[in-house]
Amino acid sequence: MRDVPTPRIRDDEVLIRVRRAGVCGTDVHIYDWDEWAQNRCRPPFTVGHEFAGDVVRVGSLVTDVREGDRVTAEGHIVDGRCLLCRTGNAHVCPHTRIIGVDRDGCFADYIAMPATNVWHLDDSTPYEIGGIMDPMGNAFHTALTADIPGAVVLITGCGPIGIFAVGICKAAGASRIIASDVNETRLALAKQMGADDVVHPNEAAAAVKAATDGLGADVVLEMSGVPSAIHQAFALVRVGGRIQMLGIPAKPVDVNFASEVIFKGLTVYGVVGRRMYDTWIQMTRFLRSGEFDPTPVITHRFPLERYDDAIAAIKSGAAGKVVFEIA
Ligand code: NAD
Ligand code: ZN
Repeated sequence: MRDVPTPRIRDDEVLIRVRRAGVCGTDVHIYDWDEWAQNRCRPPFTVGHEFAGDVVRVGSLVTDVREGDRVTAEGHIVDGRCLLCRTGNAHVCPHTRIIGVDRDGCFADYIAMPATNVWHLDDSTPYEIGGIMDPMGNAFHTALTADIPGAVVLITGCGPIGIFAVGICKAAGASRIIASDVNETRLALAKQMGADDVVHPNEAAAAVKAATDGLGADVVLEMSGVPSAIHQAFALVRVGGRIQMLGIPAKPVDVNFASEVIFKGLTVYGVVGRRMYDTWIQMTRFLRSGEFDPTPVITHRFPLERYDDAIAAIKSGAAGKVVFEIA
């Protein structure tokens, strides 16, 4: 931890006083300075990409964000000009730059953000909920680009994003939610968020069969990135079903396309970040409805100075979402 100058803002940016910031697996990669981090990041820079806070300064070209606004922000900064951006697919803009990875992030008192990326918070939304809307948005994107109402949904992996997804599928009208993980603490959180069955991966096949007369799940949300869970997702989705792939495997995974995908007539959807800005609108509306409350997912809160403890809490596997309380 060190003192750095307050970020300068461009004319189209705003300066935000950070109040709460979520800690993510990506931050753990950077903390460990693993191979991915070494290849991707160019230090020195401020880490952290999930946050909420108050706008304290606005650039001269900014028209719809004001000093004093309570905000969070989409952390993927896109060019707004490419084919993907101009066809409503900015979440896969090839020129994406991510705060806390490719430019200065939010584990600090202040962060500069382009005004286009700012998302206003309802007065009823606490800063700590605003501070986790980035990963919650990953879960919203994953769940709500599938057909959830009435579906039997299998969620493989109950990390913070999987646990959010349980609550989202519940609120969106899934008829049965089966959540799998190897970790009892996380299964308990999934249960609390509304899962009907919480199972060890060894028990997932039986649970899915029992819930679907042996047919298989209508939708699988793969939220672990673990190869065995990915194969299980292909095995337990029904013929003609849909797999939403969010979890990122550490290495290439062998897939038997003929038996696992083609002859099952599956639709496989790769999830990147949050749709801009459909996902943010859906997230805001679900929070407003009162039908979805992510608060139980936050299990640990630390001041920024205790970043070692925050990372240790994530590594312990016993945490849901870990949040820094900054100001
Ligand atoms: P996490 O690592 O906390 O959660 C993964 C969970 O999977 C853990 O609880 C783990 O115990 C569980 N697991 C391990 N083996 C399993 C198995 N065989 N079956 C079922 N569960 C198993 O991660 P997270 O922060 O919740 O993120 C979930 C995944 O999504 C990670 O792979 C992360 O890298 C990825 N991610 C992707 C995007 C994207 O845009 N695609 C964004 C954020 C995170
Ligand atoms: Zn673009």
